[in-house]
Amino acid sequence: MAEGAYPASWYAATRDAAPDRPQLAGQTEADIAVVGGGFAGLHTARLLAQQGQRVVLVERHRIAWGASGRNGGFVGPGYAARSGLLIDKLGLDHSRRLYAQSQVGVEIVRQAIEAFGRPDILMGSRKLVASRTDQGADFADRTRRLAEQLGARFEPWSTAETREKLDTARYFQSIHDPTSFHIHPLNFALALAADIERLGGRLHEGTEATALDRKGDRWLLRTSQGAVIARHVVLAGSATLGQVHGRLSRAVLPVATYVAVTEKIGPDLGAAIRWSGAISDTRRAGDYYRVVDGDRLLWGGRITTDTSEPPRLREMMRGDIVSVYPQLRDIRIAYAWPGIMGYAPHKMPQIGEIEPGLWICSAFGGHGLAQTAAGADAVTAGILGDPSKARLFSPFGTDWAGGPIGRAAAQLVYWQLQASDWWDEKREARNAERLRT
Ligand SMILES: Cc1cc2nc3c(=O)[nH]c(=O)nc-3n(C[C@H](O)[C@H](O)[C@H](O)COP(=O)(O)OP(=O)(O)OC[C@H]3O[C@@H](n4cnc5c(N)ncnc54)[C@H](O)[C@@H]3O)c2cc1C
Repeated sequence: MAEGAYPASWYAATRDAAPDRPQLAGQTEADIAVVGGGFAGLHTARLLAQQGQRVVLVERHRIAWGASGRNGGFVGPGYAARSGLLIDKLGLDHSRRLYAQSQVGVEIVRQAIEAFGRPDILMGSRKLVASRTDQGADFADRTRRLAEQLGARFEPWSTAETREKLDTARYFQSIHDPTSFHIHPLNFALALAADIERLGGRLHEGTEATALDRKGDRWLLRTSQGAVIARHVVLAGSATLGQVHGRLSRAVLPVATYVAVTEKIGPDLGAAIRWSGAISDTRRAGDYYRVVDGDRLLWGGRITTDTSEPPRLREMMRGDIVSVYPQLRDIRIAYAWPGIMGYAPHKMPQIGEIEPGLWICSAFGGHGLAQTAAGADAVTAGILGDPSKARLFSPFGTDWAGGPIGRAAAQLVYWQLQASDWWDEKREARNAERLRT
């Protein structure tokens, strides 16, 4: 039986009932073995099972026990690495094809929710990304140009349009994406798992993959109490992959971020946030939030490489909310929880075949809900003989993220990013002051 319950969260409190899946005991055979029961592993297993492949998935804890069951729930195109940087590095054509692959991921998620007949999993449509600094007169032109270059459908909103929806002086212009939406991620993961089983796939919880050996033209994946012999193995364990593949596990950096859900707020919330879509800001370590359950605020934010839970997490999150919406000063936090994202140093996912029959689908950072589906689609196509989608990701290797030393270095980088957010805002406040006097 699977170990433990889900960690306490609003998602766990509102989740669907799901069976405990048995541990893998003894040796079994499959076409494909998947390590990790988060969205990367679940989408991969489902897409392959849809193609008639015999799939076995092993998960150390429970389905979507990691980031996939605890995140902000935003589904949208793009990647954790900024599009402008991708264009500089790869050129326009390649960046456009990468963006298109992320749009494929969005569609896979949308179509799966439709196919499951679960409209309640889809909790709202559209997204606003608001700037905390004035972006100047050319913001609209720059935004439209970037959208055109990428083949994207996002569009600029002025400061007045933004503040009409979000009653805070913190925000200036924003980017409106009509193609994004937001979901109940844990229930979506549980629905994916049920669908894999309907398609004949086998899921094992409480089962850690511990070692991997070549056996002729197949792989032997050893687990805590058993083993799988398979032609292909897909490693989708993100930042907690562990000893099953030491090099790949070191190539993904664990970065913590936090989510809180308030108690029910009443009409004050609707007065402050007149928008049922998702919201985030443009900072490197920004806030992301949405209204759930009618009048609760689900608020995510902060990043750190310290993966332990801070003792005063609820107060920290409440302070973050009130700093943007001072009119909500009386709110109370009902749930707060941490989650671990997996980042590669280049901030792009690691997707592809690293040895014959050994695949990776990992390192989705803070942009994983659609991108895991995009990655799974690329890996599935690769396993079935078309490597072109996986090749899109080949410039982003599985370089070393550095273990404890790399983590300290990454923490310094994050502090620098947060400092530059702070300087941007300070400069903005000084400019505003100058205009007033
Ligand atoms: C708090 C938070 C908020 C976020 N908000 C958003 C958001 O709003 N939108 C968005 O797009 N992204 C968001 N993200 C990122 C997104 O959740 C992740 O990118 C995505 O869920 C990653 O999926 P995954 O399957 O790669 O990893 P995970 O969900 O972490 O799954 C990996 C699984 O593999 C298992 N595993 C690892 N190693 C082994 C092993 N050796 N044997 C067996 N099992 C193993 C783990 O137990 C785990 O369950 C957020 C992340 C967090 C933490």
